[in-house]
Formats: sequence, structure tokens, C-alpha cells
Amino acid sequence: MTNRFGKRVRFADRPRSIKEADAKETGPRFLGLPDRWYENPRWRCREGHVSIRYLKAEGIGDLCLACGEYVWLTFPEDKEEEE
Ligand SMILES: [Zn+2]
Repeated sequence: MTNRFGKRVRFADRPRSIKEADAKETGPRFLGLPDRWYENPRWRCREGHVSIRYLKAEGIGDLCLACGEYVWLTFPEDKEEEE
């Protein structure tokens, strides 16, 4: 799978903040991610945007509405950095 820039995106390419949060989760999991992340889902891209919405692009993947980069499911408390 690639994003709109033709780059291959993988689970292993998740932003570091997501990986670190994931490592601290001890509860039950579904499809490799903590159950509770699906209860109040939000997504983060590598540019640091965090949103409860994303663009579902058939055949391309899930894209950030702010910049078009690929997004990953992130932890419920994740917040976009303020300028
Ligand atoms: Zn973005």
C-alpha cells in the first residue's frame, strides 16, 4: 500500500509518539492495537496533525485531511501540537 506520494506505508512506519504510547498499553487488543483506542478513535499523520476525521481513499489508504499524508490510529488522549 502506498500513500498519494507513492511511498510505501507500513504499521512499522507509525510516528514515534504512537509507538511509545502503544508500548505502555497493557489492556486487551484487537488487530494488534489496544481495544480502547477504537472506542474514541483519532488519527495522526507524520506531520503531527491529529483528527477524529480522515479521508478514506480507496486503494490508497487513509489520508490526513490537513496535508494528505497517511494517517495511523493513535491513542485517545493524543493532541495536535499547538503552534
Ligand atoms: Zn497531516
